Amino acid sequence: MRGSSSMSRSRVLGALEKKWEVETRWRSMLAMHLKSREGMARLQQKYLEGVFESRKKSVENLERLVALTIESVKREGGNVYVAKTAEDARRYVASLAESRGVKCVIKSKSMTTEEIGLNDALLSQGVDVIETDLGERIVQLAGQRPSHIIAPAVHLSREEIARLVKERRGADLPPQPEAITRFFRQDLWADFKRAEMGVTGANIVVAETGQAVLVTNEGNGRLVATMPRIIVSIAGVEKIVETWDDAFNVLRVLPVSAVGRDATSYITVIGPRGMSRHVKVPEYHLVLLDNGRTGASNDPWLKDALRCIRCAACLDVCPTYRILGGHVFGDIYSGPMGVPWTAITKGLKDASEIAKYCVSCSLCLHVCPVRIDIPITISWIKHASGGKTLRERILTMYESYAVLGSRLPRLFNWLQGSRVSRRLMEGLLGIDRRRLMHRFRGGNLYEILGEKYLRRRSADVVYFPDTYAAYMDWSIGLLAVRVLEALGYTVAVPRTYGSGMPSIQYGFLSKARKVAEKNVEKLKSYAENGGRIVCSEPTAAYCLREAYPKILDTPSSRRVAESTWELTSLIAAESKTLSPSTRQPPNTYVFYHHPCHSRLLSPGRPSEDLLKRIGMNVATVDYGCCGIAGTWGMRRGAEGFLISAEIGRRVAEIILGTGCMEIATESSVCAQQLRQFSGLKVRHTIRYIAESLGIQSREEVVLNF
Ligand code: SF4
Ligand code: SF4
Repeated sequence: MRGSSSMSRSRVLGALEKKWEVETRWRSMLAMHLKSREGMARLQQKYLEGVFESRKKSVENLERLVALTIESVKREGGNVYVAKTAEDARRYVASLAESRGVKCVIKSKSMTTEEIGLNDALLSQGVDVIETDLGERIVQLAGQRPSHIIAPAVHLSREEIARLVKERRGADLPPQPEAITRFFRQDLWADFKRAEMGVTGANIVVAETGQAVLVTNEGNGRLVATMPRIIVSIAGVEKIVETWDDAFNVLRVLPVSAVGRDATSYITVIGPRGMSRHVKVPEYHLVLLDNGRTGASNDPWLKDALRCIRCAACLDVCPTYRILGGHVFGDIYSGPMGVPWTAITKGLKDASEIAKYCVSCSLCLHVCPVRIDIPITISWIKHASGGKTLRERILTMYESYAVLGSRLPRLFNWLQGSRVSRRLMEGLLGIDRRRLMHRFRGGNLYEILGEKYLRRRSADVVYFPDTYAAYMDWSIGLLAVRVLEALGYTVAVPRTYGSGMPSIQYGFLSKARKVAEKNVEKLKSYAENGGRIVCSEPTAAYCLREAYPKILDTPSSRRVAESTWELTSLIAAESKTLSPSTRQPPNTYVFYHHPCHSRLLSPGRPSEDLLKRIGMNVATVDYGCCGIAGTWGMRRGAEGFLISAEIGRRVAEIILGTGCMEIATESSVCAQQLRQFSGLKVRHTIRYIAESLGIQSREEVVLNF
C-alpha cells in the first residue's frame, strides 16, 4: 500500500511540474464544459428522458440484444463475433488480418480497440497500423495513449505537435492548427489508399438492423469504413440499442453533451450493406466485446455505468481531471467515467488506483446526460477494494474533532494557528500546514438554541446544521433558524450527527451507513408529518437527498430524501416577502460561488436570485469546483493540498477578474478555499438575507464566513 501511495504522489508531482500542460488542459476543459452546458441548456427535457430510457433498456436487455444483433448481421450477410475477453477480440482481429494477408490497417478513433490493445497485437505480427483521427494520430506518433476520450491529444501544445511532426514525419510546420491539419490530411491519404483493412469503433449498434453507427467530426471514419476491402467494427456489447428510434435518442444528445453542438458533422452507418440495402460492403465483421460488461449488468453498483454514451462531459467538469489529465487520472478510460469503466474491464484493484483522484464533488453526476451516479459508485469502489490509509481513517473523525474544538476553542484555535503544532498536525494527521483553517467560536448550536428547539416534535421545518454550523460556528445555524422564523416557519432542531460525508468520500461505507441510519431515524418522523428538512450546508443536503437513499436503500431514507431542501432554495421557492433592502450597504458588488453539491440539488441559481431580490449587485462564473472538496483539500501536499491549490488559484483569478468586493456562498469548506486564494471576505448567503430582514449577524466575533 505504501508503495502504491508513494507512486501516486510521484505521478501527481510529475503532472504538476508540467505547468504549461496543466494550464492548457484546465482552460480547454473549461471551454469545452461551457460549450456543453450552453448546448444542454437548449436541449429539451424530452430528449434527455429519451436517451435515458433507451440506454436503460439496453443495459437491462443486454443478452437479448446481443442475440438480436447476431441474427440481424447474419441475415444481411455479415460476420459477427462475440468476444468474451479483450484477448479473444484481439486474437479474432489479428488472425483475420493474418488470414487475409493484410499488411496495413487504418483505424478510426475507438476506445474499445484501446481497451483490447489491438494496435500492439497487429504491430507485433508486422502489420502497419495507422490511426486516422487527428488527435489519435498525434498521440500514436508521440507513442502515448489518449488522455481524453474524445480529445485524445488535448494535453499536447501546438508547438509540441509541430515538433513531433518534424521528428516523426520530417515535415517542418509552423505551430498552427490549420497547417497541422492540412499536413495530416495529405499525409494520411496515402495510407487510406494502401490499407487493406479498416477498423472502426461504434458509438451505437442497432440490433434490429445489425448496423454500427459512427459519430465523427473529421469524416475520417467514413473513409475507414468504405475504402479498404475488409471492414471490422468493434463495439462493447453495451453499445447495442434495440431500434433506430433508440439510436436517434442517443444521436440527439451525444454531440450536444460532448461539444455543445446540436448535431455532429458526420454520422456513418456501417454494416454488411453499409448505409443502403443495395450497396454491399466487400467483407464486413462486427466484433461485440463483453470483457466484464455482462457481469457488470448484474452488479447493483456498476450496472448504471453501462449507460455511458462516451460524451466526456464528466471529464471536462472534473476538477482533478482538469489538473492531472488522463495519464494520471485514468487507465484506458480516463477521468470520472474511467473509474467504473476500469472496474468493469480490469477489476476493482486497478479501478481503486485511480479512484483516489475523485474528490466526491458530484459535478460529473450533475452533467451526465444519462444520470450515472459516478461519485457514489466510486465511493463503493474505494470501499470494496479496501486498503484505506490511517490518515483517511483519521479524516472520517472530523466531527469528533469539531465537537472537541467547540469545547476547547482557545486551545484548538491556538493549535491551528501555531507553526509548531501545524507541523505536528501535518506529520501526524496529514493536514497540510499551508491550509487556512476555520476557527472555533466556542459552544455549540444545540446549547445556544436550548431545549425548545431540541424537543419540538413537529414543525414546518427541521433544521439539519451538520458539523460546521453545529460545532464550529453556530452563528450560521442561529441565523438560519432566525430567518426561517422571521419568514413564518416553526422550526425544530433535533440533535443530529454530522452528515458523514468524509466517510462517504473516502469509501468507509459501513461507517457512513451507521451515521446515515442514525440521522434518518432522527429525521423520519418529521418528514412523515410533512415537515421539510433544511440544510444550510449543501454537502449535508447532498448526503440526505442523494447519498443516504443509495447507501441505505430503505423507505425511510427515501422519505427523508424527498423532504430535504437546501436553505436558500426553500426560501427562494416559498418566500414572497423578500425585497430590496435599505439595510444592505449600497453598491456592494458580490461574487456568488455556486457550491458543487448545490448545483446538483437545486436547479437554477436560487441563491443568486435571492441575493438579487434583496438588491445586491451579483456576478458569477461557471468554472465548476473551487477545488477544496471537504477535507480532501486539507490533505498534505500531493495527497490533496497541491492539486487543490492549483484549482484554487485559477478560480480566484477568475473571481478577482470580476472586480467584486466579497464572495457569497453556502459551503463552509468552499469558504476556506476562496478566502485563502482570493483574499476576499467570504460570507454565507444567509447573512445577506438575514441583514435584509433586519436580523443581527454576529460574524464579526470570529470568522469571515
Ligand atoms: S465526483 Fe467530482 S472529483 Fe469525483 S470523479 Fe466526479 S467530477 Fe471528478
Ligand atoms: S459518464 Fe455520463 S458524462 Fe461521462 S462520458 Fe459517460 S455519459 Fe458522458
